Amino acid sequence: MSTPNKAALGIALREDTIFERSASGRIGFELPQTSVPLKKPTSKGRQKAAELPEVSELQVVRHFTRLSSWNYAIDLGTFPLGSCTMKYNPRINEELAALPGFCDVHPELPVDFCQGSLKLIYLLERALASIVGLDACTVQPAAGAVGEFTGLSLIRAFHEKHGGHRKYVLIPDSAHGTNPASCILAGYEAIPLKVGKDGFMTVESVEEAISKYGRDIAALMTTNPNTLGVFEQNISQIAEVLHGIGAQLCMDGANMNAILGIAKPGDMGVDVMQYNLHKTFSTPHGGGGPGSGPVACRSHLAPFLPNPRVVERNGVYQVEHLPDSIGKVKGAFGNFGVMVRALAYIMNHGSSGLRRVSTNAVINANYLRARLQKHYRLGTNTPHFHECVLSDSKQIEDNGVKTIQIAKALMDYGYHPPTVYFPLTVPGAMLIEPTETESLQELDELADAFLDIAKKIESKEETFEKSPIKTFVGKVDEVGAARKPILSLDDRTL
Ligand SMILES: *Cc1c(COP(=O)(O)O)cnc(C)c1O
Repeated sequence: MSTPNKAALGIALREDTIFERSASGRIGFELPQTSVPLKKPTSKGRQKAAELPEVSELQVVRHFTRLSSWNYAIDLGTFPLGSCTMKYNPRINEELAALPGFCDVHPELPVDFCQGSLKLIYLLERALASIVGLDACTVQPAAGAVGEFTGLSLIRAFHEKHGGHRKYVLIPDSAHGTNPASCILAGYEAIPLKVGKDGFMTVESVEEAISKYGRDIAALMTTNPNTLGVFEQNISQIAEVLHGIGAQLCMDGANMNAILGIAKPGDMGVDVMQYNLHKTFSTPHGGGGPGSGPVACRSHLAPFLPNPRVVERNGVYQVEHLPDSIGKVKGAFGNFGVMVRALAYIMNHGSSGLRRVSTNAVINANYLRARLQKHYRLGTNTPHFHECVLSDSKQIEDNGVKTIQIAKALMDYGYHPPTVYFPLTVPGAMLIEPTETESLQELDELADAFLDIAKKIESKEETFEKSPIKTFVGKVDEVGAARKPILSLDDRTL
């Protein structure tokens, strides 16, 4: 098969589990004789040696290096996973985060010994609040979903202090899946809100919910731009309607990469929001590494922010505890390394640079949309922001080929598939977020791969039923993997 992505060909090394390399008695290290007498295990101790693989140091190095080469990463190629903002993270930020003064600092150090680190937290909170036009910020939450939970907890604490607990949070269909989950964790019941035909939230549906649930509504939680990559046009009016009954507008700001320097949630009437530093503000993610989901809010919610707070008094940075705080949502101050990268990224770009980030992210998504719409149906006709959503309806009609086949086929072209079957409002959705860091050349190669697949389906040359065929592991039995997971070597029937 010819492929537009030349990088898709090359050496590929198989690797089995490390236990299959094991040979009895082989070791990867030697320790000096100890003068301390060996103690017999007590009754609670292990009765026989742990079944660990017995391998040499080189075998360990090769095993994990080979496995790491199986991982698709932004450093290997375009990573079009929608809603995830898989963009390149400048190496300079890695270097700064690795400076010994930053990476060796202990959270329990007396404040006199870590003024620089405290100042960094303080400056980052100020910068983030100003980017979104809100009054205060905490960088403590460990990820986007923790930030959602934190924001909703601030709302809960606010209502409980002023007028009493409210029961419901309205969640539009176009919200990210973590939003309803965060509501439940924060002690709320999530009430689904139907979006209009064009994918936007409507003022009418919010008014309808208010007539039904009244002052039991604590907040509305919206993802903006939403999961269709579309900006919520009625957000300001919706904020007004909510504020009319003392309810709050909470925004999932994980998609901030689309609107940096272009629109401020504070200007739209948002009361509280979270960011995903590991998406928008430079931190490698996707491999399960640490993230950060800071929360910004208006001043009326600020007294409830998580403790401890970093404050500045006459040029000295101190740690304070708010009496009405919701408490802690993460150990110490949060994931500090992510904060170093984020502040470096923000200061390096400046406000005009951040605006360019978002402008280019939107241009790139719309360029792909323009190239792909000749052979794919779009998930929505409203203008997209930073991602474009396709549907498989044309391919199903042409030849019965579904999104899952297209996604798997893409792997044979050397790409990670886009987000599939999400958002739920688009049947057979493929959500593609190219981000601003892809060049025109890379965008064209990705578009060529998508178009090559579509053309092969149209000409009935391929249905991609067996895809992927060039990967280490071919088409997997996904149902079997979910129903009968192989969790230990004993389960294997190799
Ligand atoms: C990624 C994402 C989240 C969840 O963020 P995590 O850091 O993975 O917890 C929430 N909402 C939206 C819109 C997202 O894209």
